[in-house]
Amino acid sequence: MLLTDATHDPALKSWVESANTPDHDFPIQNLPFARMRPAGADDEPWRIGVAIGDHVLDIKLARQQSPWGEGIDALLAPLAEGDLAAFMTLGPRAWTLVREALSMALAADSDQAPFLELCLLDPARLEYSLPCRIGDYSDFYAGIHHARTVGSLFRPDNPLLPNYPWVPIGYHGRASSVVVQGGTVRRPLGQTRGSGGDSGEPTFGPCRRLDYELELGLWIGAGNDLGERVDMEEAEKRLFGITPLNDWSARDIQAWEYQPLGPFLSKSFATFVSPWVVTFEALAPFRRPFRRAPGEPQPLPYLDSLRNRECGALDIQVEAWLQTARMKAARQPAVRLSRASVLEAAYWTPAQLVAHHTSNGCNLQVGDLLGTGTLSGPQPGQGGSLLELSGGGKAPLALPGGEQRTFLEDGDTLTLKAWCEAPGAVRIGLGAVTGTIEAAA
Ligand code: CA
Repeated sequence: MLLTDATHDPALKSWVESANTPDHDFPIQNLPFARMRPAGADDEPWRIGVAIGDHVLDIKLARQQSPWGEGIDALLAPLAEGDLAAFMTLGPRAWTLVREALSMALAADSDQAPFLELCLLDPARLEYSLPCRIGDYSDFYAGIHHARTVGSLFRPDNPLLPNYPWVPIGYHGRASSVVVQGGTVRRPLGQTRGSGGDSGEPTFGPCRRLDYELELGLWIGAGNDLGERVDMEEAEKRLFGITPLNDWSARDIQAWEYQPLGPFLSKSFATFVSPWVVTFEALAPFRRPFRRAPGEPQPLPYLDSLRNRECGALDIQVEAWLQTARMKAARQPAVRLSRASVLEAAYWTPAQLVAHHTSNGCNLQVGDLLGTGTLSGPQPGQGGSLLELSGGGKAPLALPGGEQRTFLEDGDTLTLKAWCEAPGAVRIGLGAVTGTIEAAA
């Protein structure tokens, strides 16, 4: 199954020299989108930018300054107007045509270079918004090692519930509190179990077990009508892009509130995403066969397809990094908390999440966001949350400089990163999502 084309050619170079630096997040093979404008320019309209090396190509300027091939100008119009949802609505054929046009325009031998040079912005001087309006946000639980480790904290003899190998477990999250990275997250207040345990009176106050979850967010590029099921073959075409996602979690609030209906206020205070949307097209060289480990049940037919078996899974690396306030003051760099391979971590593929989500006729809409669930590796030390890394808060992590952590403290800065690398392909980055904990107020 041929997925790659000339835009993925590892020999392809850009006239934007920094894009040719080895291991840069944004080589010409990537071409991710963000919604941006010059920082502080409140009266300037948002527009879509494309990351290329150390620069951002402003599509609004690029459309004005440079000639484009036939039909491309019309496809760029919604991007110039800052409307990624309107662009996604044009459909996969338009996505491909624009990717090809951008790739040719930014390639080393491009005639457009003298025009587009004038349209490159410095990312340090930009501000970003969400790439589009998120109508709905659902969060899955596809990280099997996370599910097993967290389950074992509560049910040592039976960590995985019987539905886990069959149902892509998920819940409906809160879309309004999904924000683009770069800011602070205020420690939430909430109700937690009191000192008397389940029979005593609970307390209300600042969260004491504030945590992150290392996830990826999937952007839906084409919706379905209410009542229409999206089968596995079609599910692939509904996925537009991917982005690192931090599902901030208040564990003490969660532990007290989650039964019987699941997490509520322990999650809805903030979810952070990176501003950059890396397209599924850019991920083509990093698609891998979907395989169940020996002894694991095969998915039910509605979650199975030939294409999914051949290339439904994604080979992505994810990492979490922490820098405490004291480390920052001492100019100590951030320390890596964990690293995991999505290929190992994810029990379900993106297409399976879409097919399952719509299997009851639920309608997805353009711009909807699906979280994968926490992506943890199989080994201790590969947990995608502090809940796992600290054994439920019982085993503090030692940090450089003598500090310890079980959960996040005020002033801590947490960064999630993701990237893809594979033989025969140029490495691409998914960017990073960063947030700093602010004291409760
Ligand atoms: Ca989550």
